[in-house]
This record gives sequence, C-alpha cells and structure tokens, in this order.
Amino acid sequence: MAVYLDHAATTALDARVLQAMMPYLGAVFGNASSVHSAGQEAMHAIDRSREKVAAILRCTADEVYFTSCGTESDNWALCGVAQASKRKRIVTTAIEHHAVLRTCQALADNGFDVVVVPVTQAGIVDLDALGAAIDDNTALVSVMHANNETGIVQPILQAAALAHAKGALFHTDAVQTAGVYPLDVQALGVDLLSLSAHKFYGPKGVGALYVRKGVRLANLLWGGSQEKGLRGGTYNTAAIVGLAEALSFAQSEMQADNAYTASLRDAFWQGLNDKVHSVCRMGEGESLPSVLNVRFCDVSGATLLFALDQAGVQASAGSACTAGSLVASHVLRAMGLDEGQAMQCVRFSFGKDNTMQQVQQALDAVVACLGRIRS
Ligand code: PLP
Repeated sequence: MAVYLDHAATTALDARVLQAMMPYLGAVFGNASSVHSAGQEAMHAIDRSREKVAAILRCTADEVYFTSCGTESDNWALCGVAQASKRKRIVTTAIEHHAVLRTCQALADNGFDVVVVPVTQAGIVDLDALGAAIDDNTALVSVMHANNETGIVQPILQAAALAHAKGALFHTDAVQTAGVYPLDVQALGVDLLSLSAHKFYGPKGVGALYVRKGVRLANLLWGGSQEKGLRGGTYNTAAIVGLAEALSFAQSEMQADNAYTASLRDAFWQGLNDKVHSVCRMGEGESLPSVLNVRFCDVSGATLLFALDQAGVQASAGSACTAGSLVASHVLRAMGLDEGQAMQCVRFSFGKDNTMQQVQQALDAVVACLGRIRS
C-alpha cells in the first residue's frame, strides 16, 4: 500500500463524516430553498451545520457563509471587501496561496493599489514592512494563518492589530489551520476568515467564509436568495453537513491528532538527519504539526518526488496547485532561496491515518531513492 504523505494537499474523507452525509445524498434530496417539508428538512440540516461551525469559530450563525472551496472563500473575501469599500489599497504577503495572490493581481489589473509585503528567511511576514504598507486608504489586509508549503504559523494577532490601527479590515486564509488550531475569531481579531473542508477530512468542493457582522461585502454571485442573497445557487446540503461534521470531529480530537501527527513528523525528520546528508528544513518558528518541508541540497525535488512515487511514497513539491508545473515555489523564493534551491525542496505532510511503520517505510524509500539519484 502506498504511503500518503500529502495531507496539506488534501485528506481522505473521514468515514464518520461520510455516514453523516449519506442521508443528504439519498432520501433527503429536497432543495433547501423550497418551502415544503422535503426542502425544510434539508434547510434544517444546513441551519444546524451553520450553528455548529459558528460555535467552533465563536461567532453567530449569520456570520458564516458556505462556499464551494477555500479558493472561493478567499476570492470572495478580497473582491467582496474591495468592491464594497471606498478605499483602494489591498495589502497582502508574498507567501499567500495563489487563491489570494492571483485575486490580488486581478484587483490590481482593475485599478486597485495592491502591496505585497515580504517575509523573513524563516518564512514569517515582516511586520515592520506590513505596518509601513498599511495606510489610511487600505481597505483590507490579508495574511494567511499558516503557510501551506512550510507550515509556518503567521503572527495574525499583530497583523490584525496593524490593520485595525488604520481602519482597515483583516482577512486570514485559515485553510491550513482549520481543524488544527482553535479558530476563535474573537481571539484571533479577524474580520474575515476562509476555510475548506477537504483539508480536515471533510468532503471536497465545500468551504466557508466567516464575515464579521457589519463588514460590507459585495455579492459573489447574483441569483437566488441563498446566503442572504450574496451568493445565489442551490445549496449542496450533503457537502455542508460534511463540512460541519468534519470540523466538529477535528475540533474535539484536535489535541490528540496534533500530538500524534507531530510525533510522526518529528520521527521522520530525526530519521532523515540520522540517515541522509545535506538536508535542511525550510522555515523556522511555530509550525503546523503535520508539515515538514525539506531541502535535499544536491538533488532535484521533482526527480526525488517521481522516484518516491514509484517506490510508493506520495509527497509534494510546493503546493498541489502548482505541483504539475516545474515553476519554483513562490513561497520558497520569497524566503530567499534562488530558483535552483527552491526546486530542491519536497513537502512531506502527515495525517492521523499514517502510522509509525509508514514513517519507517517512507524513510527507507527516501534513503534508497537518494542513493540511486546521487550515484
Ligand atoms: N489556501 C490555502 C492556504 C491552501 O492550502 C489551499 C489549498 O491548497 C487553498 C487556499 C485553496 O483551497 P481549495 O482547494 O479548497 O480551493
């Protein structure tokens, strides 16, 4: 059996979540916007799901909007605020996911003044540069909660305070931290927050966006009255139920799951240090328990990934969205690596379904593949 070490790209659907979704893929098929009882049964399930998510985010149910994915949540947060604001500047960081960076590019193409702030070599946003970039014309500051390539956690509290000091709104892409960190939006001090179910053992194709009450947000879609008329479209009841169920499990099992995945990751990193030369870990500071980004200093990451896949170990170079192309990761470049160095990095991301035996198997495969490549 292959060893899957790419949980930052996506996770398998939890069997308990699938079970909770099943009625809404079958007998309870009503359109949640219909007034008859079949529709209302679906709407009740959506209402319960919204309340569950709100309880975890420590907000009210009417501050939770369901979307089709993390990308959509990010797009809506950025474009929705930009279009509804009189201010014209958007500030973000060089290590954001493309869902944020390319949306910012589109906003820049449409006349917005976008400032992309650098990060340190450790992979942490430069707070001085962030503070300097935010001015009285800034509508929104968007800083991710943790980076998907390095796992490095960003100083959200400080970043949000800098935004608020200038009257700007603050958005965080919490796609990698949902289910891993308690996402109390009050404690985090955020106005908008994105998450995506498939990163925490929920279904693909469903996400959520928290929008603090009072934040002015332009429509994402024009259509029916769903999501207060801001995002029309018939509800995907099963997916929404799956998101809420997966988030609830992840929240209640967070401590044990985090300790377990960290123990697998640490054992893997220790093993690499013991058995392999010329490796270094990318990023410094507080990190997601699951993610390990390693630079194999004299080897092409793509070659190693291909060899590992042949040997039954599935990992990733950079983010999954760009893994198909041979472009060096913008995150690693932003941390100061040159193109060649950035192409030597491989991301291993562990999950609750991995075992210590698989860690050993993966280590053996890395040693064998490196031996062949280096010779
Ligand atoms: N933001 C981050 C940090 C991510 O890691 C991802 C997915 O890799 C996304 C956004 C996009 O999420 P989705 O795949 O649900 O569109």
